[in-house]
Formats: sequence, C-alpha cells, structure tokens
Amino acid sequence: MEISTTLTDSPVDDARLAEILSDPGFGLHFTDHMFTVEWTPEKGWHDARITPYGPLTLDPATAVLHYAQETFEGMKAYRHADGSVHLFRPEANAERMITSSQRLALPELPVDDFIQAVEAMVKVDERWVPEGEGEKSLYLRPFMFASEKFLGVRPSQHVTFMVIASPAGSYFKGGLKPVSLWLTEEYTRAGRGGMGAAKTGGNYASSLIAQQEATRHGCDQVVFLDAQEGVYVEELGGMNMYFVHADGSITTPATGTILEGITRSSIITLARQMGHEVTERRFAIDEWRKGVESGDIVEVFACGTAAVVSPVGELRSAAGTLPAPESTETTMKIRSALVDVQFGRADDTFGWLR
Ligand code: PMP
Repeated sequence: MEISTTLTDSPVDDARLAEILSDPGFGLHFTDHMFTVEWTPEKGWHDARITPYGPLTLDPATAVLHYAQETFEGMKAYRHADGSVHLFRPEANAERMITSSQRLALPELPVDDFIQAVEAMVKVDERWVPEGEGEKSLYLRPFMFASEKFLGVRPSQHVTFMVIASPAGSYFKGGLKPVSLWLTEEYTRAGRGGMGAAKTGGNYASSLIAQQEATRHGCDQVVFLDAQEGVYVEELGGMNMYFVHADGSITTPATGTILEGITRSSIITLARQMGHEVTERRFAIDEWRKGVESGDIVEVFACGTAAVVSPVGELRSAAGTLPAPESTETTMKIRSALVDVQFGRADDTFGWLR
C-alpha cells in the first residue's frame, strides 16, 4: 500500500507534550496525525494517506450515522527501556478486524495493510509514545465505517478505514485494585447468530445501560450472561474473564458470543507455559458461586488491552453479594509475565513483539 504523507505545520509543542505524557489519562489527547484509506467496489482500497489530525466533514446522510455499520480495534505501542517502540501482536488485531468486518458486511482490509497503517502512525507520531514507566503506552484505534451518503439499508459502497492514536496512562492510578462486578440479569450483549464476537460500536452502545446499572449498584464493571439460557458467564463490558481453581487449573468462558481478546489468547499461551492446565468452555454462573463458596475457585481475574490483567473483587447481583476469593497470586504472576514481554523486560519467547 502506497501511503502519502502530509505533515502538520503546527505539531503540539514539546512542553505541552511533556505535560500530556506525564498524566495522559485514557482517550483524552490525540497525536498530531491520522491515517486514512478509502474503499469502493470499483477501486478497492485506495488513497492511503497520513494527514494532520483533525475533524471529518460528513454528510448528514452518511450511512454509519444511521445504521452503525462499523468495526474497530484497540491495541498499544510500548516503549522499552532502550527507547525502542514495539507493537504487541498487531497481526492478531488485523485478523480480528477482518472477522469483525465480515460480520458487519464491510470490506476486508488485508493484514499487511492494517499493520502498515498502524506502523506508519507510530512512526510519524513516535514522540507521542510515553516512557514505559508506570505502564504508559500509546493506544492505537483503527476503525472502519460506512462512509457512503445513502439512506438505503444495504452494505455501504464507500468505506473509510482510519487510525488515530492517543497516549494512555496506567489503567489503575494509585495501584492495582480489584474490579467489583455487577451481574446484570436484565440485559445481554450478544445472542446466538448476533454480533457478540465482532468488535463493533453497537455492542458497546447496547452495553451502556447495563454499565449504568452497575454504577448505580456501586460496581466498576458489568458481567453479562449468555442471552439464550441466561446461565453461562460471557464477559465484562470490555474485558474477558478467567477462573483459577484450587488445583492450579484455569477456566476461561467460551460461548462463541464473546469478543475473544488478544490478551485472553496471550494469557492462555502464557499460563500453559507456566504449567497451568487451561480450558475454554461454557462456565455457569452457579459454578462461579459454588466454586468460591467451596474453595474450588481461588482466584478470579479479568483481562483486556486497557487494564492488562486485573483481579476481580466481589460479585453483586439481585441475589446478593459473592465475596472475592482472597488470593491474587496466580493473577499477579500472569500479569507480570505479560507486561514484562510487552515492555521488553522478559524474553519475547513467542515472537509477539514487532
Ligand atoms: N471483551 C470486550 C467486549 C472488549 O471490548 C475487549 C477489549 N477489546 C476485550 C474483551 C478484551 O480484548 P483485548 O484483550 O483484545 O483488548
């Protein structure tokens, strides 16, 4: 893919950038540039370009604004102690975007083009990648949307793919603290044949009301159960789940309707390397409750690109409160193993860095 570059003539100045990178928060500040490439059935992907970051001009009839035909990804670039900058498994994000795009009847962006776009963004705005101290990183947000001006309900004949980037601080300011969970029994995020396995805006729009319910109950995150039977644990609003058993084995829910995280898949690999038996299967909410009560479940944790790995605190629901298991030993071991690879403090045994 040929990428043209037009650099901004008003980049954020060094003093302001230092201020932003000292406390970036999440999703608040955006780098100096953005990447765009467009697609039509006649031309395929064309006109790839890096331009100064700025607002888009969209016709009010642009399809995505009405029918939410869009997909996105979330990934990070990490700065190592020697100053070098690395992406973590970008091909996995590229592949997941293809799967998501197939589900949303969007064109497929080839893996190599996806990686090229993300790499070009990291290169052009490299000064925006924070020092790795405190687990800071540069969050990258590739996204694809129906950009045709047309109100008919059919796949868009004009599609735009973009990448924007935003420095991110540690998810847990003031130390790692367990996330408390609210079990929603009223709302589900994904039905059979639905789009739960795709990373698409609609899934997040539909999760917000459940997240509001969680907040009202004083919880950090919401847990969703499967839509059909309402008994199997799926995932949190933006994280996958893991259960550690007393014998050291680990279970992670799989239903075909969850968003399978890159972090989730990396943890399966790392935990097996560390000697844990890891099973992906349907996992009932009752098994969680009984397991914690009987002592069979000794740790519960959640994972995703933003928070990496986080211990799970208590589980609240209409039925009452289930306390968190006491231990976080395995959780923290797995967390360190993953973060150490990402920040270049451990060998990249699996060739995950680029
Ligand atoms: N589930 C959902 C619904 C998510 O939004 C995310 C974050 N992308 C995850 C799981 C974790 O995925 P990943 O490890 O790739 O960030």
